[in-house]
Amino acid sequence: MMIVMTPDAGEAEIAAVRKRLETTGVHVLVMPGELTTAIGAIGDPEGVRTLGLEGMAGVDRVVPISRPYKLASLELNHHEPSTFEVNGRRVGGGSTFCLIAGPCTVESREQTLDVARVVKAGGASMLRGGAFKPRTSPFAFKGLGVPALEILAEAREETGLPIVTEFLDTQHADAIARYADVVQIGARNMQNYALLEVAGKLGKPVLLKRGLSSSLDELLMAADYVLKEGNERVMLCERGIRTFETATRFTLDLSAVPWLKLHTHLPVIVDPSHASGDRRLVEPLGRAAAAVGADGIIVEVHQDPDVALCDGPQALYGRDFADFAARVAAHAGLDGRTVA
Ligand code: PEP
Ligand code: MN
Repeated sequence: MMIVMTPDAGEAEIAAVRKRLETTGVHVLVMPGELTTAIGAIGDPEGVRTLGLEGMAGVDRVVPISRPYKLASLELNHHEPSTFEVNGRRVGGGSTFCLIAGPCTVESREQTLDVARVVKAGGASMLRGGAFKPRTSPFAFKGLGVPALEILAEAREETGLPIVTEFLDTQHADAIARYADVVQIGARNMQNYALLEVAGKLGKPVLLKRGLSSSLDELLMAADYVLKEGNERVMLCERGIRTFETATRFTLDLSAVPWLKLHTHLPVIVDPSHASGDRRLVEPLGRAAAAVGADGIIVEVHQDPDVALCDGPQALYGRDFADFAARVAAHAGLDGRTVA
């Protein structure tokens, strides 16, 4: 339920509504707006209905929020997209486009620093790189772990690019909180609710990837798990879903982007690398993502993809990155957005 206050409602009236709501055990969120304050009551709507809030001083109306996701819904943010900064770079809000690039996995110091320099020179906004990798086969390379985080920190030191890296397991929480600038939740963990709650508590922005077979409602409910920990800096990531089509690794659901824009205030990032599994498709899909209103893309880059330990076929060649970035930025520029 949402309680919309009148424009002249004061602090005392808002506090009184909050107090009465809290008696029912619902999660209460006060959202001051330019004209009016809205108070979100998340939880049992029946209990809230019996409170008779409509009669309280300063209350304009009580509106049911019928969607299964609550905190992520656009209504909860006064129909405004949310925007936040990651180390000075603006994400969301419609004036910037975020270009996240880097290796799938940190394989060595040299490989990571080389790619970091190349993506920095090409104008990337942030550096991606996996230290803990979720691999389909338990026998595949699972990443270097904490030493990889140290390498990423060195790359950040040199290039100034914030680090995006995956949080795979709650036992790595301290290390991830120490090194990451953006905490990535991988597609395979989108519904790992215990992990989402811990991610929400790390105090860092979260990039939440859509599960391989998850609906958009499920993605937004997963985002609610992070948001309810008081972390408002969440970006969603469409990275391709399972369909009957096997020509591409996954099927990039581009319609997810404008749909999410209608239903959530959270920024939306597209991952054309994991969606396609084929570097030749990464640029057209990256441009398409910009065209349908994505707030950014995340792409994999390797100096020598033939010897990459993970996801080589989808990695862009480092030498091609600057041209790629310029062409994607041109598309983002068509609706007035600049890479930041
Ligand atoms: C990744 O970004 O390296 C990754 C493993 O992606 P996803 O979780 O989307 O498969
Ligand atoms: Mn990868």
